[in-house]
Amino acid sequence: MLVVMDQKATPHQVDAVVKTIESLGYATRAIPGGQRVAIGILNNPGPVDPSPFLALPGVKDAIPVTRPYKLVSREFQAEDTVVRVGSVAVGNSRLTIMAGPCAVESDTQAMTIARLVQNAGAHMFRGGAFKPRTSPYTFQGLGEQGLEILARVRRETGLPVVTEVVDTDTFDRVEETVDLIQIGTRNMQNFSLLRRAGRARKPILLKRGMSATIDEWLMAAEYILEGGNSQVILCERGVRTFAHHSRNTLDLSAVAVVRKESHLPVIVDPSHAAGRRDQVIPLSRAAVAVGAHGILVEVHHAPEKAMSDGAQSLYPHQFEALCRQIRAIFDISAGTWESGEPSV
Ligand code: PEP
Ligand code: MN
Repeated sequence: MLVVMDQKATPHQVDAVVKTIESLGYATRAIPGGQRVAIGILNNPGPVDPSPFLALPGVKDAIPVTRPYKLVSREFQAEDTVVRVGSVAVGNSRLTIMAGPCAVESDTQAMTIARLVQNAGAHMFRGGAFKPRTSPYTFQGLGEQGLEILARVRRETGLPVVTEVVDTDTFDRVEETVDLIQIGTRNMQNFSLLRRAGRARKPILLKRGMSATIDEWLMAAEYILEGGNSQVILCERGVRTFAHHSRNTLDLSAVAVVRKESHLPVIVDPSHAAGRRDQVIPLSRAAVAVGAHGILVEVHHAPEKAMSDGAQSLYPHQFEALCRQIRAIFDISAGTWESGEPSV
């Protein structure tokens, strides 16, 4: 339930409402709003009787929240959240392009690709230092050395950097080094990692689990917000289906659903969805047209030599074309969304 206070409610009245809710054994959360304060009731097991709150001075309304996720839902917060990643703002009426190799392989490789994607118009550099790989025999990432290379990329290009965190042991180091912390598809329901992300002072990029429903994905985000970190960007990266023509199936309808259900920004990773280079540009165009706030795309200066995911990595000239095309699409489609609803 959301208890909405009158615009003229005093801090004393707000305090009295919070105390009443807490005296009934519920947790509360103040919800930011442009005009008035709202107080969310969080840990109620079932429907809440609004009568004890409606009678209190300063209370305007009590709105039941019908979704299992609360803090991430539009019922709790109608306005879009804008997530700040270093100097870059993600969400609302902006298009954010995050690009770079699957993995940081060397100093020269990372710096070469970072300069190429920056010149083409990327706003952020991506690159894995700790790689969660299906096989224990394949390249696992440079680890700590990879983080140092990412720090250098940021220092020398000024681009904010995003990398994946794979466990709670290395969380502190990732958090102090990068601007945006990625939680990958395989860890979307790693609850200790989600709780740690809730305590982080850096924004989180939460990928959808490869077999997760949209409800499960939003509940995973709820863990992070409930833990105190409201800076979460969602990322659709394809789900498992019977299709063999691509590595996964990009669920573009999820973008439209999430924009309606949640105030959090949502971006698309066409690279891991496709698994092959020839699908990445068309899928990116479609992602932006359907309402994604940005894309996360793999680019390599020499994909045939890449230590992971070379087959899906774009050549630099393809990435340049991609940036031009999606900017044009964004310009005509951005205005078609109004606070979660596609306008017709
Ligand atoms: C990645 O972005 O490098 C990655 C491993 O992605 P995902 O978790 O979507 O497979
Ligand atoms: Mn990859």
